[in-house]
Amino acid sequence: MKKTQKLIAMEDKFGAHNYHPLDIVIKKAEGVWVEDVEGKRFMDFLAAYSAVNQGHCHPRLLKVLRRQAAKVCLTSRAFRNDQLPLFCKEVCELTGFDKVLPMNSGAEAVETAIKAARKWGEKVKGIKKDKAEIIVCEDNFHGRTTTIVGFSTEDQYKDGFGPFTPGFKIIPFGDAKALEAAITKNTAAFLVEPIQGEAGINVPPKGFLKQAAALCKRNNVLLIADEIQSGLGRTGKLFAFEHDGIRPDGVIIGKALSGGFYPVSAFLTSEEVMGVFNPGDHGSTFGGNPLGMAVAREALQILVDEKLVENSNKLGPWFMEELGKIKSKSIKQIRGKGLWVGVVLNRPARPYCEALMREGMLCKETHENVIRFAPPLVITRKELSLALKSVKKVFKELDG
Ligand SMILES: *Cc1c(COP(=O)(O)O)cnc(C)c1O
Repeated sequence: MKKTQKLIAMEDKFGAHNYHPLDIVIKKAEGVWVEDVEGKRFMDFLAAYSAVNQGHCHPRLLKVLRRQAAKVCLTSRAFRNDQLPLFCKEVCELTGFDKVLPMNSGAEAVETAIKAARKWGEKVKGIKKDKAEIIVCEDNFHGRTTTIVGFSTEDQYKDGFGPFTPGFKIIPFGDAKALEAAITKNTAAFLVEPIQGEAGINVPPKGFLKQAAALCKRNNVLLIADEIQSGLGRTGKLFAFEHDGIRPDGVIIGKALSGGFYPVSAFLTSEEVMGVFNPGDHGSTFGGNPLGMAVAREALQILVDEKLVENSNKLGPWFMEELGKIKSKSIKQIRGKGLWVGVVLNRPARPYCEALMREGMLCKETHENVIRFAPPLVITRKELSLALKSVKKVFKELDG
């Protein structure tokens, strides 16, 4: 039996079947390239859902991880460590927010934002106890905890997992009128992805975020942007909300915050909102640990030093334009921002992803009929050209 089949059979036998991965078993990676256990090389056009914007196994991250791991990895927040203060200062200075609370996975940072918003609603805005509401959007993706899937509109994400946390209202994504109608005196926050990633790189109508920001301001409602996937350069700006010239009251980051080396996420907000947390209110054993903080500091510095946000902004539109030149009866729409492109098909996207894999390009379908292209932001024009050749070939094959 080939190595690949052996490992897949082993995983299928002993592992939970909560994913439907493409049948490639990766053993190593560097930059935009990954290599499987058979020695075949592929270009990674998913970048671990944008967690490896800095490219796989970035040498600077490897160096920092090794150095820090040899010193101290975990202190817990019962004691202080010498990396957390520097991370806090650097991430606040880079993003322009007053305060940060580091966690591990993205979902935990979303939970942190939800707790902060509710508590702010009660203690600062004056909403009655246990009445605070948070407005979210249809087709949202904010993670997989029971509270978060409770306000998902994806049936499968919820099926069998109830009962769910109350206090969430759902409006259509991109509909400012619906947002206005949904706001009551009990509304604490509007939680939104500036561009919906898992929904298929869903870009809202122009001006939506600006209108939402104005409505939130007028009604004393917190605007919280989930930039776990859209943030840190993916769309050609540090944050996707910058395209609309707004500043939310809070932002949630994760994924690329650690360049794929270690789970680090964070909630960033104002002095006033973060001020609702008192010692003992919230926490995490691993949150803010020195190993994660050292890695995250370096991951952010790499984004700046290597001008990865600029690269996304420069190459993204060109890549999208080139994709647009493909003549295919199966393409319905091409949408996105920066190096984040969704190709919407009028048929299932999975066969296209499987064909692209055979051509040496790894992508994953999202929402049945969308191919998502999200390569590491270190990708070059030359590598994108190579990818375009494969994409053209696959469309020719599968359309015919
Ligand atoms: C991935 C993602 C999350 C969840 O992050 P995890 O690290 O998987 O918990 C939340 N929100 C958005 C927008 C995401 O893309």
